Amino acid sequence: MKIGITYTILRKEELMIRENAERFGETVMLHEDNVRFPYKYDLDVVIIRNVSYFKALYLAKLFEEHGVPTVNPFSIMLEAGDKVFSTLKLSKKVPVPRWGVSFSENSAKKIAEELGYPIVSKPVFGSWGRLLAKINDKDSLEGLLEHKKWMKNPLYNIHYFQEFIQKPGRDIRSYVIGGEFITAIYRYSDHWITNTARGGRAEPCDNSEVEEISIKAWEAFGDGALAIDIFESPNGLLVNEVNPNMEFKNATRVTGVNIAEKLVEYAVEVAKR
Ligand code: ADP
Ligand code: ZN
Ligand code: MG
Repeated sequence: MKIGITYTILRKEELMIRENAERFGETVMLHEDNVRFPYKYDLDVVIIRNVSYFKALYLAKLFEEHGVPTVNPFSIMLEAGDKVFSTLKLSKKVPVPRWGVSFSENSAKKIAEELGYPIVSKPVFGSWGRLLAKINDKDSLEGLLEHKKWMKNPLYNIHYFQEFIQKPGRDIRSYVIGGEFITAIYRYSDHWITNTARGGRAEPCDNSEVEEISIKAWEAFGDGALAIDIFESPNGLLVNEVNPNMEFKNATRVTGVNIAEKLVEYAVEVAKR
């Protein structure tokens, strides 16, 4: 078995993945500076670990079209990595926060009125809580829309909003790989944005409802390795989003679960399909 791992920098995650992949045969580290297409790579599967979502997405497509399956597969990267596309998939299977998408300032204001303040504005792509904004009133919404109007990336002018969920000082991050529930953590923070990349504190979460909703969220996509964000709302659990390029060092540290091993085992399964 020849397992490729594409990467931008060797974070703890990539080191853990490499260590586990080495048990299955040859591991080929592919720094993004050294990858080019068209090219015939002699690999059975590639685990895509680039930091940039778009580099990861395009690499998945290029490898797949050159005969090398990827983790995650391109279609999962595409639909799970976009907050609008994934909301559409998720809402068919699990409860999600009330949401709205608009393409103009006027319709954004209508959505805000329908959802009711406060609302949360997010770019359709991205992670680590980047460019999230909690909007408490119409004045701040107008300010946000004015700023977004002048941002160069056209994706920033696809306006995605959610109702603001009153969380109990924490949210939940779970991991489902190849349909198997792996583990979950709570992320505690004094800030409403709880990402551990922004200082949220991780603690183990052992809860059968979390397990159930996580598997259902995975079923909305039907394949892949997904990190899932879940909110404990006053009306029960809601799935906020899924992430197709998972970070897991804090989850592994506090739960002791070897998520990298599960990811590699899944990649080996994908290679054999
Ligand atoms: P990212 O892809 O950047 O992680 P998320 O949608 O997961 O974006 O948002 C980051 C964090 O912000 C969430 O984990 C949560 O703590 C907080 N958050 C996001 N949306 C909401 C919301 N609608 N209500 C309350 N908190 C939210
Ligand atoms: Zn995310
Ligand atoms: Mg998130």
